[in-house]
Amino acid sequence: MTNEYDVLVVGSGAGALTAAVLAARAGLRTAVLEKSALLGGTSAYSGAACWLPGSQVQQRAGVADSTESARTYLTSLLGDHEAERREAFLATAPRVVAALEEDPALRFEWRPFPDYFDRPGRVPRGRSFVPCDLPRDEIGRLADLVRPSVDRDRAGLGHPDGPLTQGRALVGRLLLALHRTGLADVVTGADVDTLVRAGGRVGGVEAVVGGERRRYAARLGVVLGSGGFERNAAARARHGVPGAADWTMAPAGTNTGAAIDAAVRLGAATGLLDEAWWCPGVAMPDGSASFTLGLRGGVVVDGRGRRYANESLPYDQFGRQMAADPARVPSYLVFDARSDARLPAISLPGGTAEEHLAAGTWVRADSLRELADRLEVPADDLLATVARFNALVAAGEDVDFGRGRDEYDRYFADPALLPVERPPFTAARLVLSDLGTKGGLLTDTEGRVLDEEGRPLAGLYAVGNASASLTGRVYPGPGAPIGTAMAFAMRAVEDLAP
Ligand SMILES: Cc1cc2nc3c(=O)[nH]c(=O)nc-3n(C[C@H](O)[C@H](O)[C@H](O)COP(=O)(O)OP(=O)(O)OC[C@H]3O[C@@H](n4cnc5c(N)ncnc54)[C@H](O)[C@@H]3O)c2cc1C
Repeated sequence: MTNEYDVLVVGSGAGALTAAVLAARAGLRTAVLEKSALLGGTSAYSGAACWLPGSQVQQRAGVADSTESARTYLTSLLGDHEAERREAFLATAPRVVAALEEDPALRFEWRPFPDYFDRPGRVPRGRSFVPCDLPRDEIGRLADLVRPSVDRDRAGLGHPDGPLTQGRALVGRLLLALHRTGLADVVTGADVDTLVRAGGRVGGVEAVVGGERRRYAARLGVVLGSGGFERNAAARARHGVPGAADWTMAPAGTNTGAAIDAAVRLGAATGLLDEAWWCPGVAMPDGSASFTLGLRGGVVVDGRGRRYANESLPYDQFGRQMAADPARVPSYLVFDARSDARLPAISLPGGTAEEHLAAGTWVRADSLRELADRLEVPADDLLATVARFNALVAAGEDVDFGRGRDEYDRYFADPALLPVERPPFTAARLVLSDLGTKGGLLTDTEGRVLDEEGRPLAGLYAVGNASASLTGRVYPGPGAPIGTAMAFAMRAVEDLAP
């Protein structure tokens, strides 16, 4: 082995870079091995909300959050599922934030964004927080290594002028902190496909770098932060993950699960393999999909022209409603001229109305009957659905699906109920998208990868979507994917450090 380190981190999302920063800060020689040319994966695309309850960030903002209330909230959602790992997460959440904020490069601030369920322990206006924007002169040329936002990345554009924001700020800040340790190497274009066992423990990896196979040795441990397998159509089909590899939000060319497969070849156990963090996605002209949330108008119908859920549900819950019935993929968001004929929702990336109408991903007509005919949806049903919806709006209550009742519904749109009545009418095709799979390697309270007998595979750790999520089949609140990844990254580093 020629490339020798204390710690190898595979991938460069929020969990991976948190592990790398904490390892290097503990004086450990660390290498980040990232498959693509850019750092950050889906984490860079994200809003970078971090669900890390009970930390100093919420305290600074005077938010009524605590470890105790977060425990109540998670327990009400998850029951006994993963109780031990949940406790480990809750104990670590405030610590990982305190540890990261010791570095002046890492700063976070609370922003209102409600938790996704009206359950005991919920914090009014939410408990998640985000990284502060990162001024360009602070990060300098390192910004070129950070993956741009999803709209710019898919269009082949770099960062806009101005500070790095959201996921780019998180990845940029972690990268800056890592760089300042002087103890870490970052290797891009390193596709890890093999884990090497040495002396009864995982002691390194093999990666294809620039067409050449290289070995990297890890004296203390290998942390997999390599995302899920959402970009792997065959693996999705094998494990029965609804949706499609083309509709996932993970950057093209990433997250095919190769590192998960390598661990399985060494005997690692897996769980939740049919799971993902779901969302509705506006179908894009190129066959991809776009993360859609925050509905401000319109009504969603299935292929039969019928409503089936509260359209303002948190996106994972709406995605699960879509997945429950094949007639719901595609669905249609039917909206009127009220929003200047623009999509009454946040859609990342958006695409223009002209592009969508030309591609047929949106259909527009002067009457609902004509719209239904062009969509090949039963016209009488669509008309009846919209008439019923408008009557509920006029009465001021969605007694069918409760849209507008919850704090989350009104966060994006207040009032949450507006009639669909002004021609022209537009239907945007919705498919089932996801932010990544959330099943993967089974891990314990320290992020150690377990074998089929529940024993740790010495030297091997997994965080983020490479591991089976402790949140099971639930998406508790904004920032759960990234928050849990960061907390277990800390526990992994504490476990492997001498
Ligand atoms: C628009 C958008 C907004 C979102 N907002 C939020 C939010 O606010 N808060 C939140 O918590 N979540 C959010 N999410 C979800 C969240 O971004 C992801 O679930 C999370 O970032 C996944 O983190 P990860 O580290 O597991 O994977 P990723 O961030 O995708 O990182 C995995 C990295 O590993 C690399 N890799 C994969 N395989 C290999 C290999 N074999 N060898 C080497 N490298 C490899 C990939 O190239 C990639 O860079 C959002 C997602 C999207 C798309």
